[in-house]
Amino acid sequence: MRIQLLGAPIDALNMKETVSEIEEFLHKDSKPHFIITLNPEYLYRAQDNEELMKLIYEADLITPDGTGIVWAAKTTGSPVPERVTGIDLMLNLIPLAEQKGWGIFLLGAAPGVAEEAAGNLKKQYPRLNIVGTRDGYFKPHEEDKIVKEIAAAKPHLLFVALGMPRQEQWIYKYKEQLAVPVSMGVGGSFDVIAGRVERVSPWLQKLNLEWLGRLIKEPYRWKRQLVLPKFAWLVIKKYKLKI
Ligand code: UDP
Repeated sequence: MRIQLLGAPIDALNMKETVSEIEEFLHKDSKPHFIITLNPEYLYRAQDNEELMKLIYEADLITPDGTGIVWAAKTTGSPVPERVTGIDLMLNLIPLAEQKGWGIFLLGAAPGVAEEAAGNLKKQYPRLNIVGTRDGYFKPHEEDKIVKEIAAAKPHLLFVALGMPRQEQWIYKYKEQLAVPVSMGVGGSFDVIAGRVERVSPWLQKLNLEWLGRLIKEPYRWKRQLVLPKFAWLVIKKYKLKI
């Protein structure tokens, strides 16, 4: 089922159902599918950015990424089962990829990080088929070559860590040329998997305070996090909620 929140569709699926849906994509046809893990920052920016909103509508699957989205969906009367973040979805797809023999490609993050992340994934999943890695600090004139490289490697899953919304714009722009069955943006996930950035502890995640943990660990993010109260206020105003 799809719900609507601030003008955007969101798939009301839990993690398990999301993974099954992606598995379906891979079995169904060879058409390239594109997944957006929609966080409050993206949805807030999409309110006055037609291109970003269009990308959401073009996506084959839109997951509720973040406590803010789960809260807003519940408060406005169309709840979603749980948070499905980019990193969690990626980490749920990896064991399945190993089991099914799906090829994966990691594009993005600083030079060396995607390789390190790939190395750590291989340690945990020795039979995982990583068909390629490439850092995310390239010049526009290199993009054609990168797209060809990825297409030639023929991954089943492409994880793109260029930061939001660039990763979503990039996937959408090159989707047909890449011809990868499933692509998704994963933000800073490679840094976490490579062990360069520590993820917020599970107890804070459970308390829905991942945003607070990230603010403490990566204080330079405070400006970006200002969007969270703005997002909440927008929901309150738009849906005429009582506070
Ligand atoms: N990044 C990149 N190329 C760039 C800018 C950023 O590959 O030109 C990477 C950066 O190294 C990091 C990721 O994109 O690994 C973005 O991480 P962030 O935590 O900011 O993403 P978010 O999930 O918050 O969008």
